[in-house]
Amino acid sequence: MIREAFFGARRFEGFRAALGIPRATLTDRLARLTRQGIFRQVRYSKSSSRVEYRLTEAGLELYPSFMAMMQFGDRWLAGGRPPLRLIHVLCGKECYPTVACSACHQRVSATGVTYRNGPGAGYRAARPMHRARRSSDSTQYLRGRPSSVSRTLQIIGDRWSFLIIREAFFGARRFERLQSELNIASNILADRLGRLVGQGVFERRKYQDQPERFEYRLTTMGMDLYGALVTMMTWGDRWLSRGRPPLILTHRDCGKDFVPTVECDRCHQPIKAQDMQYRLNYAPADFGVPELSDRSKAIRERQNRL
Ligand SMILES: [Zn+2]
Ligand SMILES: [Zn+2]
Repeated sequence: MIREAFFGARRFEGFRAALGIPRATLTDRLARLTRQGIFRQVRYSKSSSRVEYRLTEAGLELYPSFMAMMQFGDRWLAGGRPPLRLIHVLCGKECYPTVACSACHQRVSATGVTYRNGPGAGYRAARPMHRARRSSDSTQYLRGRPSSVSRTLQIIGDRWSFLIIREAFFGARRFERLQSELNIASNILADRLGRLVGQGVFERRKYQDQPERFEYRLTTMGMDLYGALVTMMTWGDRWLSRGRPPLILTHRDCGKDFVPTVECDRCHQPIKAQDMQYRLNYAPADFGVPELSDRSKAIRERQNRL
């Protein structure tokens, strides 16, 4: 739904047409996203009480995270045929958003950043989560149009998988450590690790004979999830941490506190939703989704700013 909002959906029927979600589910999620401060309701005619849903500032600021996930999906999951091409209105060029250090503008990688505890640090033992034994149905992410963001979410949108990948970036490689850090049942951990190996995020490597023991290392592809994770972290720091971020990052290369920015690879300006136009590499009719019109989108965005 947030993705479709970035494509210009605002009204109940617009979301429904793009995603085919059952009405009750759509109503529930719109209410939830409004409560969470991602959407705000705006009455769209004086004579009626009907509302449309517009992204708030917090919602619009999710755009860089979506771009970072999209770039990952384009690189690793699109079979060389990314669904979208992006035109950056500010420089007029086709662009590939990159996650970079906002101080030195170098592209970032997991190994280029160190971390220390921030004011909101504090380890709480994970409470066992119920209802998570089975993974959520990841095919739900593939509703509607083809999307590299959706394909990325098929990997990191499962909550246990997400937590396992996060711990891997903190250096966890072995089953026992993951199990104790996450308080996760061993059968669920085994299931998710097996799946992440199958998806190409981890490789399973033997580190001991007799008895044989294996550890799980992020592959090049797995390491490439860092940009998306760190961009989401920054959003969480800004909107959900009440000024007390749990972690402070330092960029090794420039020595400055690391604040990621998702920027245009051509002009190096930060990417914002309203500065982007799309060219589709697919026919919307094939997926039952509405046509995009840059013109109408630009007009809507102007209205949005007003
Ligand atoms: Zn830097
Ligand atoms: Zn640009």
